[in-house]
Amino acid sequence: VGSHKREVKSICCIGGGYVGGPSAAVIANKAPHLLVTVVDIDARRIAAWNSDLLPVYEPNLFELVQPARDGSSGREPNLVFSTDIDQKIREADLVFIGVNTPTKKTGLGAGKASDLSWLEAATRRVARAATKDTIVVEKSTVPCGTANMMREILAANAQPGVKFEVLSNPEFLAEGTAVRNLLHPDRILIGCLETESGYAAANALADVYANWVPRERLITLNLWSSELAKLAANAMLAQRISSINSFSAICEAVDANIQDLAYAVGLDTRIGPKMLNASVGFGGSCFKKDILNLVYISESLHLPEVAAYWRMVVEVNEYQMARFVKRIVNSMYSTLSNKKIAVLGFAYKKDTGDTRESAAITVVKSLMAENASIHIFDPQVREEQIMADLQVERGDKQITVSSSPYDACQDAHAVVILTEWDMFSNKASKTLAPPANEAGGMANGGAAKPSPKHEKVDWARVGELMEKPAYVFDGRNTVDKAVLEDLGFRVEAIGVASSS
Ligand code: NAD
Repeated sequence: VGSHKREVKSICCIGGGYVGGPSAAVIANKAPHLLVTVVDIDARRIAAWNSDLLPVYEPNLFELVQPARDGSSGREPNLVFSTDIDQKIREADLVFIGVNTPTKKTGLGAGKASDLSWLEAATRRVARAATKDTIVVEKSTVPCGTANMMREILAANAQPGVKFEVLSNPEFLAEGTAVRNLLHPDRILIGCLETESGYAAANALADVYANWVPRERLITLNLWSSELAKLAANAMLAQRISSINSFSAICEAVDANIQDLAYAVGLDTRIGPKMLNASVGFGGSCFKKDILNLVYISESLHLPEVAAYWRMVVEVNEYQMARFVKRIVNSMYSTLSNKKIAVLGFAYKKDTGDTRESAAITVVKSLMAENASIHIFDPQVREEQIMADLQVERGDKQITVSSSPYDACQDAHAVVILTEWDMFSNKASKTLAPPANEAGGMANGGAAKPSPKHEKVDWARVGELMEKPAYVFDGRNTVDKAVLEDLGFRVEAIGVASSS
């Protein structure tokens, strides 16, 4: 739509996090004629992007970053990571803003509303630095109406003669599969003002994506619809998890099995099988934050029933974690005092090192309150991260971070599985993770074979190491219960009644 054509040669991405870094790496790979720069106020993060140990662990990411960043035979480098923010903004025709928008901690809307201070700071910086007309793309997840706030800030602080066009282009990647999602998106939303210059900017961004995304997947819509679509998508994905988890509670109380139920329900083509894995609960930096934001927006719009409806999705998730902890305590004769618990997995899901809002944080803190001695193993999360998340110092009496699952399980009374890493599964259908070319336990993924850290757990060996009865509390339904029971374990799975 629109006749005026804008050309994009240089892109700057403000915010080199889980979204900004991988997104820039994909654009640089698929559009080698463009110069793509990632800038961040965090100099350590930029240094890590320029090293062999990237700040973000994602399968296949290093393979994408390295040739674009360093160049290779037959290709010039076109991916730059820099702290020179103003200079890179000046050079860009199009600026993505992909900074953090966490839940506000204090003040008006605390605990629900989004904290837009980083987004506002980045927007002001673009306004002041740009010396030519620039397209500014809102990539962060934001409340509806934020694009208008950005338009105002940009216009009020622009250098004389400089014009900005704001687009909304929410990101739908999921951590752990970010590269695949970015390379093969279900859809790309481009929200714009319904004016000639708005459409021209939208077309320019569409041309960037068209380097690898089929045109029919590029959807243009107005700014509000685009912003709200992101919140709606996350709310509906999380709602599926809370829905299946609510059924898991019923299954545990009667003689029904949640996996059979999910299979049976998912065969209905109107429902489909995805996102129906019952678990200890969802985590990650987005679902809870975005739903709470939706609750806040609904309240602000005087729609209390809508707010209550979405708030329940978060409440059921919290209930699910609390139920899981209660089951652990009740099964283990109502006391965890001085008992050793091995926690397998701390990341909020497999194939990421991210622990933000991980169910593991909530569950482990509750186990600490029961005076358990907890030994944690995760193949990807660093010890300092675990200690920081649990707010404990190194050398803490209750928390130990183990470098192997067997160390964690030695003399343990129970194993609690909190992340569905493939290495913990003994199900026949699962493959060894991570695939050979992305192993190494490092973000660079350059190792030729899986690192020992990712080798499949030998459950017979675990059983021999443990105190008896040896409990497994499977918060992700990742092990084959029957096989483990044959080995002598007592297995408590989500959505399956206790056998004892
Ligand atoms: P992140 O915290 O990993 O990265 C954000 C980066 O922005 C940080 O490195 C921070 O230092 C930088 N930053 C903040 N203010 C800046 C400024 N003024 N100038 C330059 N850099 C600045 O966050 P993330 O997980 O990448 O998420 C970014 C946004 O994308 C959020 O709004 C989030 O809701 C959304 N999102 C995240 C995901 C996900 O899976 N992580 C998926 C879709 C959308």
